[in-house]
Parts: sequence; C-alpha cells; structure tokens
Amino acid sequence: MTEPVAIVTGGASGIGAACAERLAADGFRVLVADVQAEPGRALARRLGGEFVPTDVTREADIEALVDRAGAVDVFFANAGIFGALGPIEQTDTAEADRTIAVNLRGTLLCLKHAVRVMRPRRRGSIIVTASPGGVVGGVGPHVYSATKAGAAGLVRAVAAEVREYGIRVNSVVPGAIVSPMTAAVLAGGPADLAAATQAMAPSPLVGRPGAPGDVAGAVSFLAGADSAFITGTELFADAGYTHAPGPAS
Ligand code: NAD
Repeated sequence: MTEPVAIVTGGASGIGAACAERLAADGFRVLVADVQAEPGRALARRLGGEFVPTDVTREADIEALVDRAGAVDVFFANAGIFGALGPIEQTDTAEADRTIAVNLRGTLLCLKHAVRVMRPRRRGSIIVTASPGGVVGGVGPHVYSATKAGAAGLVRAVAAEVREYGIRVNSVVPGAIVSPMTAAVLAGGPADLAAATQAMAPSPLVGRPGAPGDVAGAVSFLAGADSAFITGTELFADAGYTHAPGPAS
C-alpha cells in the first residue's frame, strides 16, 4: 500500500517543521512547501519526503504543489507572517496587503487547490493554522488578527461546503509558541518586545513557554482517523491562553 500524503506549507520552520516531523512519524509521505529552500530541503531529506519551493501568495505555485503530490490526504495550510505591530492610524498599507496576501489569500488558495484534488477521491483532511489573535484583541498586530479571524471563517464556510464530499476542514489554534516568528518579534524593539513577552509568557499549565512540538499532537489528531467526525471547528493547542488565561497576577 502506498503511504498517505501530507502537504505542510510553512513547513521549513517552527510549528510547520514540528508538525511535518510528526506527520512523517505518523506514516505520511510529507511534502514540505515553503519559500525557505535550504531548511525546507534539509528537513524533507531527513523525513524521507520532498521539498517543493512554494510561495503561497502565488496560485501557480500552489497548483503545481498539489499536482506534484497527486493524491493529497492531508493539507496543512500553516504558512504565515506576523506583519508589523503598531497603531491603526499608522498602518502601512503595503505591509498590510502583504500580510493579507500570505495569511488570508494564501489560505484561500490552499483550500481551493486542496479541495480540487481531494474531491474526486471523496476524502481528505485540511488543517489551517489560525491564532488566538483571530479570537481576542490585543495579542498581535491588528492586520494579523484580521487575517487569522478570516482564515477561521474560511474554514467554517468551506467545511460546510465540502462535507458532502467527505472532506474535513478544521483550524488549529496555537498559543504562545517560541519560534523564529516570535523571535523576530522579540528582536523588533521595545514596543514589540513587550507584546512578544506577553505573548510568550510561560504557561502555568506546563510551566514553560509553548514549543512548536506542542502543536503537533493536535495536528496529528486532526489529520488522522480519530477525528473522522470532526469538521468546521477550531482546536486550541494553547494551554488555555485564549479561553482560560487564568487569574491575573
Ligand atoms: P515561523 O516563522 O517559524 O514559520 C512560518 C513559515 O512560513 C516559515 O518557514 C516561512 O518561511 C513560511 N512562509 C512565510 N511566508 C510564506 C509564503 N509566502 N509562502 C510559503 N511559506 C511562507 O513561524 P511559526 O511560529 O512556526 O508560525 C507558523 C504558523 O503559526 C503561522 O501561520 C503563524 O501565524 C501561526 N501561529 C504562530 C504562533 C506563535 O506563537 N508562534 C501562534 C499562533 C499562530
């Protein structure tokens, strides 16, 4: 029997890389799709998978990625950027357009082409990386928050549309995870530092900040048969960060 296939966008780094590793351990042939070729290629080689250079803002790249995979059992649409922190009245519209293009339009394109190849086989699991910033205010740049709320909205709408084809669509919502994304925010200056420190505050649940691997179990679950009755929902892998942040200190 051939191995099931999983695509991971943003798979070269952070949460995507940890989830690619987990999906490979679960028995998937993993296609690592990213704009970062060197780490993506190294990871894919280690996992016995394949690196496919992919910019999720380019529909032709996603189309080629999905067609290269052939049969796609799992599509993890995880690539994302944080964009710039700052007050609404100083929004840099070019930067905002870029964040929307990667996080929201990119997710839309991934859903479009994942469904295109899953529908004839009448099965598949699509997982989108959303964010607490898409649920509550004050935990990320406003444009980032809007894109993540939009991505979660897409998940619900598309899940309703495709469930008759046997395709499931869910979001995973990581909490504060130490990754190159958050490290870049930490390096961004005092205003960013405060926001990032707050975002990465150690969780009393585990007594340490979240690590990329803390999201992998949720993604593995949503990818596999144990979640066969679950679609159109959000799974929070956030140690309570969004809905049970705990007593004020
Ligand atoms: P990361 O920066 O380590 O990983 C993001 C990956 O996406 C990188 O490999 C990057 O090269 C890739 N990428 C960026 N733009 C791309 C594009 N146009 N096309 C293809 N790939 C692209 O960050 P991370 O923390 O692992 O973030 C992964 C996802 O998790 C993102 O969607 C992020 O918004 C989300 N998230 C992160 C946190 C956190 O605390 N780190 C919390 C909630 C949600």
